Amino acid sequence: MRRPSTPPSSPSGSRKRTRSCATGLVCHRCERNFPLEQAIFACPDCGKGLDVAYDYELAARHFAEVPRAERPLNIWRFEELLPIVGTSAQALVGSYAGYTPLIAADRLGAELGLSNLYLKDDSTSRPSLSYKDRVVSMSVARLLELGKDEIGCVSTGNVGTAVASLAAKAGVDAYVFYPSHLEAMKARACRALGAEVCQVEGNYDEVNRRCRDLAAATGMEFANITLRPFYAEGAKTAAFEIVEQLDWQSPDHIVTPAAGGTLSSRLHKGLGELQLLGLAETSATRIHIAQPSGCNPIASAILAEEAEIHAVTPETAAHSLAIGAPGDGYLVIDAVRKRGGTGGFASDPEIFAGIDLLASTEGLLTEPAGGTTIAVLEKLAAAGRFAPDDTVVAVITGNGLKTLDEHPAKPWPDKVDCELDAMLAALEELGRKPSPVAA
Ligand SMILES: *Cc1c(COP(=O)(O)O)cnc(C)c1O
Ligand SMILES: [Zn+2]
Repeated sequence: MRRPSTPPSSPSGSRKRTRSCATGLVCHRCERNFPLEQAIFACPDCGKGLDVAYDYELAARHFAEVPRAERPLNIWRFEELLPIVGTSAQALVGSYAGYTPLIAADRLGAELGLSNLYLKDDSTSRPSLSYKDRVVSMSVARLLELGKDEIGCVSTGNVGTAVASLAAKAGVDAYVFYPSHLEAMKARACRALGAEVCQVEGNYDEVNRRCRDLAAATGMEFANITLRPFYAEGAKTAAFEIVEQLDWQSPDHIVTPAAGGTLSSRLHKGLGELQLLGLAETSATRIHIAQPSGCNPIASAILAEEAEIHAVTPETAAHSLAIGAPGDGYLVIDAVRKRGGTGGFASDPEIFAGIDLLASTEGLLTEPAGGTTIAVLEKLAAAGRFAPDDTVVAVITGNGLKTLDEHPAKPWPDKVDCELDAMLAALEELGRKPSPVAA
């Protein structure tokens, strides 16, 4: 692909630092520490992923120093708790992403018997209409810190469009690897944004494994493989925003979809950090995860009270949730258990009914991941999991415009003549009762 005429400025030369209080990387299992600067994504001892560690006392002080009114309304609003230290990387990436609306869902709430239901609406996320803008912003910012000028990714759909968009903004080349089953619109959007797209025969888990090999063979950074510890941190910003948007009252429940498990496990981490900083009492917030019946390895482990995830072969129309071997699944099990939440799943027809319910009550068109969340929210409400006045937040992670081709649509009525009589007849045909005035 054509290189941009102006190469990205290398932040390594810049002395200016963000207010990040990140202190290093730490293994999720054995807790071995690594310096933040080290380009490493898995523990050499146990092969597990790495987390980012912070100095929370420093973060609390830094946080108090800058009034909220002076903080940007994007993911960098909480830069103390993000792992990007270079200001020029930050300036280039992520000013669009984050701070999506928290919507009071009164009509959907009435339908479900919930008087304090909210939607965290990442379907309107900028620049690419899904929660992946949060995580990929971190990957691309880190890429710039490393002074690299190309990025790859493996995607169930939305990582690809986020990488295509944010790589273009950062002035780096993007290569997107897609499994064979995915909504065509997502691959087309990547190409329209200037990324190269490679469609691979195989499901996400197979392509993911090969991309790991590819990263090792080429030295190319992958947004959600080699840059994973940084990628994952972006997901916490949704938790920070939800609590701030509720006036620093943490909700009683969060219902969120899970694929690889990054979002749900980092909502837990983000809530814990707000507590550590003394910004909100978040310990009572339960996290419930939603998965499609055709790919529910995390939800079934939670429901069976098992500690191990059993990988599955995905079979679902919710392509963005079709990860059969979820890398962060064990973290999700831990988060849900600690917080007293649960897991639920929904069949494909229930998922599309969930999309329709959200559309008809709140006027929001979401993709199957959002339909899964609404369907599971509905089941949990019916099962009496929530008190009627509990504050419940459902996270709507993606936009339905990208997946409309998959939506089982009503058949189109025939075209009619552009004549009053024909159009009146058509209205009747469409089910409208004749109005008394016309009668
Ligand atoms: C990726 C994705 C998810 C799930 O994210 P994980 O962090 O992998 O669990 C949910 N919804 C949408 C729309 C997504 O693209
Ligand atoms: Zn380790």
